[in-house]
Amino acid sequence: MPYPNHAPVVICGAGVIGAAVAYYLSLRGVPVTLIERSAVACAASGKAGGFLALDWCDGSPLAPLARTSFQLHADLAQALGVDYGYRRLTTLAVAAGAHGVQRPDTMPEALAWLDSQGVPTRVLGTPATTAQVHPAQFTHALLHAAQARGAQLRMGCVEGIDVSAGKVRGVQVDGTLLPTEQVVIAMGPWSGCAAQWLPLPPVWGLKGHSITLKPTTPIPAQALFVQYITDTGEHLEPEVYPRPDGEVYLCGFSEQAALPESPELVQPRPEAGPFLQHIAATLSSSLAGLTPERVQACYRPVTDDGLPLLGPVPEVAGAYIATGHSCWGILNAPASGLAMAELIVDGRARSVDLTPFEPQRAALRGQGKPV
Ligand SMILES: Cc1cc2nc3c(=O)[nH]c(=O)nc-3n(C[C@H](O)[C@H](O)[C@H](O)COP(=O)(O)OP(=O)(O)OC[C@H]3O[C@@H](n4cnc5c(N)ncnc54)[C@H](O)[C@@H]3O)c2cc1C
Repeated sequence: MPYPNHAPVVICGAGVIGAAVAYYLSLRGVPVTLIERSAVACAASGKAGGFLALDWCDGSPLAPLARTSFQLHADLAQALGVDYGYRRLTTLAVAAGAHGVQRPDTMPEALAWLDSQGVPTRVLGTPATTAQVHPAQFTHALLHAAQARGAQLRMGCVEGIDVSAGKVRGVQVDGTLLPTEQVVIAMGPWSGCAAQWLPLPPVWGLKGHSITLKPTTPIPAQALFVQYITDTGEHLEPEVYPRPDGEVYLCGFSEQAALPESPELVQPRPEAGPFLQHIAATLSSSLAGLTPERVQACYRPVTDDGLPLLGPVPEVAGAYIATGHSCWGILNAPASGLAMAELIVDGRARSVDLTPFEPQRAALRGQGKPV
């Protein structure tokens, strides 16, 4: 049921999670304003792989969120009516290393592009279970669809949340109060700042690096999860995602590093680009000798127990949080956005049980820092 008279909701952060919440709220006719300090999808939501899997979260509390999201991604690819690189694909485990790996005498024709030192060892996913999107284009598509239904995008830095008598009264944006009684914190790893304004558990960022290449020969729709052993014996797990537009994305090289104040200040380590280039060349002659179009870094948002925070902020009526999706934020954005919209509009999420993701869970279990 649409709620055109619902109170306006302010969403802080225009990454994939903020855009998904805005999209599903706008479908319900709720007036929405998104506040973004830098640019839409400027952080992890624009620099991720965009890999989607139906059942890779099975056995964890994320399973229902992931399974619902995988189906919603298929629905959205139809409903949004724009091409943002959604497709089903095969996913392979590949062994590779600086010292080379024993190759079989013959390789199936479909794997002929892996003509260097990478050896496929296992099928991890089929087109029935794995898929991909271009994450920046997907985030923009969600936002444009929300804007077509009246959502507003306002550029500015959220500096605080005004709370009085246990209720949200407004959002401080660039020194000015934007009045609202409902706010969603969706600032990715920067959601950690909101713990200064609201009683929230910690959120921080884990840095990852990536490059994009533009080979001249087409690469088949095969995602690779590579087990790479360096010349010093270190085990690395880079990932490779050929995209429908001919781009090939490689990521790896995760590290604990201090989160800069804003996304523009995030810089890749100098050695990360050349190293990912070297791994690409180790896998396929089609990827050798190419200058990367982009060498970049970003921070995925993580929490103490590795699960997202999705739900109402304890003790503050009208405040919600949606973050902490770690390495599955692109996959889990649709079900997170839908469930958050249901929670905000109906008072209860129906499509996915959000209980495992409630922000007050750490305090209820007596674990982690108290909220
Ligand atoms: C290398 C790498 C590869 C990945 N690959 C995949 C993948 O293949 N599949 C998958 O499902 N997930 C993947 N992920 C995870 C995914 O990218 C993230 O979980 C997801 O993008 C997080 O989205 P978000 O909207 O929560 O945060 P973000 O994308 O960080 O967006 C937060 C937004 O909030 C804004 N903001 C911050 N502070 C403020 C403020 N004070 N005021 C206003 N705006 C503010 C920022 O500018 C930013 O635009 C990957 C992550 C990394 C690092």
